[in-house]
Amino acid sequence: MCGIVAYIGPREAYPIILKGLKRLEYRGYDSSGVALLNHGLHVYKKKGKVADLEESLVGKNLHAHAGIGHTRWATHGEPSDRNAHPHQSANGKLAMIHNGIIENYAQLKNELQKKGYVFKSDTDTEVLLNFIEDIQKNNYCGLEEAVRIALRRVVGAYVIVLLDQDNPDTIIAARKGSPLVIGVGKGEHFLASDASPIIEYTKEAVYVNDYELAILRPDELILKNLGNEKLTPFIQKLDLELAAIEKEGYDHFMLKEIFEQPDTIFDCLRGRLDVGNATITMAGVQNNIEHLKNANRIIMVACGTSWHAGLIAEYIFEELCRIPVEVEYASEFRYRNPVIHKGDVIIAISQSGETADTIVAIEKAKEQGAFIFGVVNVVGSSISRIADAGAYTHAGPEIGVASTKAFTAQLVVLALIALKIAKEKNAINDDRYVHLLNELHNVPEKAKAILPMNEHIKKLAEKYKHAKDALYLGRGYNFPVALEGALKLKEISYIHAEGYAAAEMKHGPIALVDEALPVVFVATKDSCHEKIVSNIQEIKARKGKVIAVVSEGDDVIPKMSDDIITVPEADELVAPMLSVIPLQLFAYHIGVAKGLDVDKPRNLAKSVTVE
Ligand code: GLU
Repeated sequence: MCGIVAYIGPREAYPIILKGLKRLEYRGYDSSGVALLNHGLHVYKKKGKVADLEESLVGKNLHAHAGIGHTRWATHGEPSDRNAHPHQSANGKLAMIHNGIIENYAQLKNELQKKGYVFKSDTDTEVLLNFIEDIQKNNYCGLEEAVRIALRRVVGAYVIVLLDQDNPDTIIAARKGSPLVIGVGKGEHFLASDASPIIEYTKEAVYVNDYELAILRPDELILKNLGNEKLTPFIQKLDLELAAIEKEGYDHFMLKEIFEQPDTIFDCLRGRLDVGNATITMAGVQNNIEHLKNANRIIMVACGTSWHAGLIAEYIFEELCRIPVEVEYASEFRYRNPVIHKGDVIIAISQSGETADTIVAIEKAKEQGAFIFGVVNVVGSSISRIADAGAYTHAGPEIGVASTKAFTAQLVVLALIALKIAKEKNAINDDRYVHLLNELHNVPEKAKAILPMNEHIKKLAEKYKHAKDALYLGRGYNFPVALEGALKLKEISYIHAEGYAAAEMKHGPIALVDEALPVVFVATKDSCHEKIVSNIQEIKARKGKVIAVVSEGDDVIPKMSDDIITVPEADELVAPMLSVIPLQLFAYHIGVAKGLDVDKPRNLAKSVTVE
C-alpha cells in the first residue's frame, strides 16, 4: 500500500526514483509523483499509473541529485492530480510524501485554517506538512526540529519524507507504523518502503523503527529518536536477489508466483523437515517450546488470505496439539477489548509483516501478557520485530497483489509448528507423526504435478468468464480453501463469489442456485468425502453448474460434475496446500480472459499498511 522512494547522492535522482516507483507498483496505488531539488523544488504528480507520470515528464529537465517519489493509495481525498503526492507547503519551500493516515488531521487543519492557511488538496498529508511549516515559522527552527515537534502532536501512522529547498543536501524522514528502509551506498543514500527499489544499488540497509527520525545526506546518515538523541544505525545485509522481483518470462507476477509454489514450498521445508530422522528444526519454536506447548489457548490473528491460513491452522492445531484455537480478524480483535490471559499465545500471520491492523492487534495482546509468535514472509518487517519469536515463510518477494505462494508457505509453516508442538507435547502418536512428515515432504512434488493442469483450467476460465456470481464450497480442511478460492476470484476477476461451508449452503446460499451459477466444490478425498458427494447432488438437483476439485482416482464425483480438476491425493491435513493451487489458476485465467490487470487489481493494495 503506497510506495515511497527517495535518493540523495551523486547520481541522477529521477531515473532511480522512477524505477523504484515501478518496483513498488505491486503494493497497489492510484496516483504517483516526484519532487526534485534543482535550484528550487520541482513537483510533478499525476493520477493513474507511474507510466502516465513518466509520459507526462518526457522532454522536461529532470536533472537533480536529490528527490522523493510516491505512489499513493488514497485514504483522504479522491485519487486525483491535486491529491497526489508530493505535496508542497504553503510557502513552497518544503515537499513531502507520506504513507499512512494522520488521524487528528481535522483538528490540525482547523487550527491552520484559522491562521490563514489555504489547502490545495483534501489530504491529511498536506495538513501535516503545513503544520510542520507553521512550527518552523513560529519557532524559528530548522526543519528537523519542526518535524520532531510536529510528530509529537500527530496521532496516526505514517512514514514521511521531506525535501527542503533551503537545505538541498538533506532529506528528512520519519516513521511510525509504516515501513521504511534506508539503503546505504558509497556517498549516497536511498530510501524506500521496502528493499525492492534499493537492492540494485546496495545490499546494506537500515530498517527505521517507530518514532525514529532519519537525516540523510550523500555521505552521512543520522538516526535519532523523537527526543533528539542520536541512535546507532544497525546496518543489515539485504538477502534479496534482483531476479526474484522480475517476471522472468511469465506474463504476470501472479502466474509466476503460482508456478513457483513447488519451489517455495520446498524452500519452506528445507533445513526444517528431516524425514529420515523424523525431526523438525525450527529455532523459534524450539527456543520457546514451554510457552507454546503450555498455551491455554492459541489465537490466530490475521487479515485477508492470511486469515484463511489461520482458519486452516485452527483445524491443524486443534487436531494435532489439542490446544483450543481461535481465529480473529486483526481489525476486529484490536477494537473489541478481547479477553487475553498470560498463558495465551498469539500467532500473527502476515505476508508483508506490515499489516497495520495485525501490528496493533499484537502490540495490544503483548501489553496484556500474551506471547506473540509471528509467521511472516518479509524478513526484518515490523511484525517480525515486534513478535517474541517467529518463523519466516521463505516464499521470496510476492509481487502479485493477490497472495498465492505466500499462502501455501504459511500453511506449510503452520503445519510444521503444530507438528513440532504436538510432538513435544506427546499429543500425537509416532505413526501419525511420521506419516505427516512424509506427507509434507511430498507436497512440493505433488504441487508440481498440478501445474500441467494450467491449460485445462484456462479453458474452464473461458467457459465460465461471463459468470456474474460464483459459489465455492468445501468441508473440513477444505472449507477455508473454498473461502480462499472465492476471495481470489473476487480480487482478480471482479466476479462476486462467496465461499461457504458446504453443509451450511442449505441455510441460505442454496437459494442462489440456478443453471447460471457455477459452484466450485473443493472435494478432495477426506473424512467428509461422502458428505460432500451429497452436497454436490443437492446442487445438481437444482441445475447448478458444478466444477469440482477432486483427488486423482476419484470415480464418483467426476460422474456428477460438469467439469473437474484433479489433484494428487494427500492426507486431508496437507490437502489445502494443493487444492488451492487450481483455484488460484482459475481466478488468474478468468481475470486474464476478461482483460483485467491481474497483478494490480483495482482498489487493492498489496500490503495494507493503513487500518
Ligand atoms: N493519507 C494519505 C493520502 O490519502 C496517504 C495515503 C497513502 O498512504 O498513500 O493521501
